[in-house]
Formats: sequence, C-alpha cells, structure tokens
Amino acid sequence: KRTITRLPDWLKTPIPSAGTNPSFAKIKSDLRGLNLHTVCEEARCPNIGECWGGSKDGRAAATATIMLMGDTCTRGCRFCSVKTSRRPPPLDPNEPENTAEALARWGLGYVVLTSVDRDDLADGGAHHFAETIRRIKAKKPGMLVEALTGDFAGNLDMVRIVAESGLDVYAHNVETVEGLTPYVRDRRATFRQSLKVLEHAKAVRGKGSLITKTSLMLGLGETEEEIWETLRELRKIDVDVVTFGQYMQPTKRHLKVERYVTPAEFELWRQRALDMGFLYCASGPLVRSSYKAGEAFIENVLR
Ligand code: SF4
Ligand code: SF4
Repeated sequence: KRTITRLPDWLKTPIPSAGTNPSFAKIKSDLRGLNLHTVCEEARCPNIGECWGGSKDGRAAATATIMLMGDTCTRGCRFCSVKTSRRPPPLDPNEPENTAEALARWGLGYVVLTSVDRDDLADGGAHHFAETIRRIKAKKPGMLVEALTGDFAGNLDMVRIVAESGLDVYAHNVETVEGLTPYVRDRRATFRQSLKVLEHAKAVRGKGSLITKTSLMLGLGETEEEIWETLRELRKIDVDVVTFGQYMQPTKRHLKVERYVTPAEFELWRQRALDMGFLYCASGPLVRSSYKAGEAFIENVLR
C-alpha cells in the first residue's frame, strides 16, 4: 500500500498563537486560573483563532470546547491520541460548578462540552454531564450549550439524562462509515449503537426542540457510496447537522491516512448534505465537529 508522507498545501496552516491574534491572547489570559481544560488548546486545534474570536459582528457566537471528566479514556479508538486506562481517576464532584462559574465569567456565546468515555462509571458520567449543563444554564441562560457525548455503551437512559438537562444541541460522532467502524473505533462502539444514541436524543425532547449533530472523518478509506449511505442513514433518524473533516494521523502508532480529500470534494459533500435536507453542514480539511459551532447555530438555526 502507498504511504503518504507529504501534506498537501491546503493542510499547511499556521497554528494561531497569542502573538498573532489579540482576542485569542485575551481569552487565553482570562482562562488562566479558571482551571478549564479546553480541547481547543490541548489538541492545538488550528481553528482556535476563528472559533474563539467568534463572528465578525461581535462575540456572541464565540465557541470553545471544554473537556469534562478528566483526560484519561476507558476506550482506545485507533484514530485518537487520548491516554487510556481501565480505571481513570474518580470524577471531581466540584467540576460542574467550577466549569459553570468559569464559563459564566468567560463570556462565550456557545460552549461544547465533551468528555472521554467513562465505561468505568455506572452511569458513564451522564449525571455529571447533565449537572454541568444545568449549572451553566442557571448562571447564564443565554449561553448555548452543545454536549458531545460518547455512546454510554448503548444505555439510552443515560442519553435521556443528558438530553433532558436543558442543552441546545446533542452531538454524538459516528466518526466513520459503518464498514470501517470496527477498524477505526474502539470495539465497544458500533455504528448502529451510535445511530440509536442520536435517534433517542431527538425522541426524548421531540422533533424541533433539540438539534442533533454528528461528524465524520474522511480519508480513512471510505468509498463514495459508503458516505452516501451514511448520510441516508442519518437523515432517516432526523439528524440535523453533519460535519466532515480530514482524518489526520496523530502519531505513527495510529491509523494511517489513506487519502487527503481535496477542498473541492469537501465542498461537494457540503452541498450534497444540504440538498439532502441537513440544516447545516461544515465540511473542509480542517473542520472539527465543533468548528465555529456557535456561529453556525446562530446563522442556521435561530434565524
Ligand atoms: Fe476548539 Fe473545536 Fe474550534 Fe477547534 S474546532 S478551536 S476544538 S471549538
Ligand atoms: Fe478518543 Fe473518544 Fe475513542 Fe476515547 S472514546 S479513545 S476519547 S475517540
């Protein structure tokens, strides 16, 4: 098999630093001492300048992704570089309150809360997630909240606990097409189980009252027909938002990139998704599931 070593030009983007983006520098200094773990910083996400800066017409839609429940996952997906352990440290009971307090001071418009998978906990961390959302909404009712959860090992009661907590967007990533799922994701995750999570989140709150969202990485070896089929499955269960980004190999021990998808092809998938009835689709080489999520929500859902 051919090994790809050189990055195409469209992926060579400078990581923004405090020196080049003043609003990013300010947020970074405000964050110090708040004890929040942002995925944006920890994953050195190249979109941080755009997301944290928000839209041109104000800070209302500035977006950040916060990691709850620690940095150690009980699963080991083959595309992900998060540390794994069967018994990660216990949850911090003060985290929901501290996170809400810190977010209220930060002045974001939109927050994505995500976490590692905690199969070691009886509830998978669902109550912790829900409590964090309730406290954020109590302190800052105007802040839009998206929860990007795992599959709770298929326990739909846990999905319900999160879906009923007052959040605006329920996200769960299928990550890849069904045929590649066993090679890409941890063996405890299945494509069908992920569809059930998304379907249940919507059913709990009723059509129209909760946005559901999922993401796929492209470049793992999926065929065009498999992508079509995935989109059809997602539409069948009324998923509202889909995003596509390029899979990037985090270290040599992780899955290889099979292909770099061109920006034109990403744009084609964006159009196709919209034509199929998705409310919104972000699609591009550097797009991550939370990419400018606040701006997108305000422009496509509230208007
Ligand atoms: Fe943060 Fe997600 Fe935006 Fe990256 S894409 S900066 S992780 S909110
Ligand atoms: Fe990474 Fe999520 Fe898989 Fe854990 S469940 S290894 S955090 S992708």
